Amino acid sequence: MAEVLVLAGPGKTRATCALLTLARRIGTPAVALGGPPDAKTAAALGRFGATTIYSVTAPEMDRHPVAARVELLVHLAHRDPPAAILVASGRDGLEIAGRVAVRLDSGFLSDVIDVTAGPDGPVATQSVQGGAYLVESRVVRGIPILAVRTEQVTVVPAPSTPTADRAAPATPTVDPPTTPAVNRVTPATPPVDPPATPAVNRVTPATPPVDMPTTPPAPPATPAVNRALAATPVVDRVRMTFPESVRAVRLIARGPTRPRDLSTAAVIVAGGRGVGSPEGFGLVRRLAAALDGVAAGSHAAAEQGWCPREMRVDQVGTIVHPSLYLALGISGSLRHRTGMHGAGTIVAVDSDPDAPIFRLSDLGAVGDVHQVVPELLAEIERRRAHPVIGVDENEVTDEEE
Ligand SMILES: Cc1cc2nc3c(=O)[nH]c(=O)nc-3n(C[C@H](O)[C@H](O)[C@H](O)COP(=O)(O)OP(=O)(O)OC[C@H]3O[C@@H](n4cnc5c(N)ncnc54)[C@H](O)[C@@H]3O)c2cc1C
Repeated sequence: MAEVLVLAGPGKTRATCALLTLARRIGTPAVALGGPPDAKTAAALGRFGATTIYSVTAPEMDRHPVAARVELLVHLAHRDPPAAILVASGRDGLEIAGRVAVRLDSGFLSDVIDVTAGPDGPVATQSVQGGAYLVESRVVRGIPILAVRTEQVTVVPAPSTPTADRAAPATPTVDPPTTPAVNRVTPATPPVDPPATPAVNRVTPATPPVDMPTTPPAPPATPAVNRALAATPVVDRVRMTFPESVRAVRLIARGPTRPRDLSTAAVIVAGGRGVGSPEGFGLVRRLAAALDGVAAGSHAAAEQGWCPREMRVDQVGTIVHPSLYLALGISGSLRHRTGMHGAGTIVAVDSDPDAPIFRLSDLGAVGDVHQVVPELLAEIERRRAHPVIGVDENEVTDEEE
């Protein structure tokens, strides 16, 4: 069974395990990692089916994270063409996937939420139009490059007995070019907005693929099934020389602190144009802090300069799936909804009772954020000061007494 290359993102263990969950269905998973794997990471990747970790330790991985990872994937693909390459979606992932597809003259699918093995190669399910439609697609040129929305993938460890994953048929490595295929388009839910446009992937090679000098030969092949069940993957320390082009962009400064990661936050309080001013956005931050959550903004709020771009809920860059999402003065445009509709409980505050966000929310307050949020903050403060208020004394357990 051919290898399926999974790109591990720094600090993105769940995303990598989600990619491995899908990779197991279409081949033998291997991980491309920028940096040395520690024992804990290697064991975790092994539990999710990684048989090999291709590890590169080089300063470029940190200083030029996108370009260096493109080189690594291209290098590995030239060395031994995989059945597919899977990367986690997101700003960097999409850039890496696009650039690798061009370098390998291969087809690229984005917004992938599921992958199965088909008779002619991996079949990807793509979520389009804010999840209104599901599209099944197959790459028919080169090595399939798939950018996966990992937050929509249920992470499943590899089976401990040689059963389930072996059922999937092997995938051919590289298909001859034919025509781009977009197969069955299935409405996932009644469409919210205009009908989907068929997704067609056209990838034009900008430059011919460049051969990278290869160093150590691949580790000796072991039967795929046995290796797939191994707890600890083989670590292949790849030595490679990076071309000068990797250093085309230089890091000038790195901020002292990075905002908390929106994509994994359990509680998000987001402000939109309706908060009205930077001071109004201060209410968003205060409520987020009071709920031990993360503050975020709509595109409109970021455009006003009330919050940095990194804080935007973004249908491409930062799709969020918290347990609780509070939308303050956010109308709920289709594009915003695409970035947050996977939230568990959605609470909205908006002065317009017809704002589309109310159609999506579990709880809504029609009112002015400047009035509702201070009241909410005061109530949180009051409950913090008197935590047992509202609790039936009979419910207090022995431990609490
Ligand atoms: C190519 C493209 C991609 C885009 N991608 C994204 C994306 O990924 N994410 C995203 O967020 N946007 C995106 N946008 C922008 C998007 O289309 C909307 O313009 C944006 O989401 C609107 O932000 P908003 O809800 O904050 O503002 P508005 O739509 O202006 O809504 C403001 C809301 O605040 C309410 N309000 C006003 N005053 C108060 C008050 N005092 N108290 C309470 N409520 C009040 C209003 O009733 C209204 O409902 C994209 C746009 C384009 C063109």
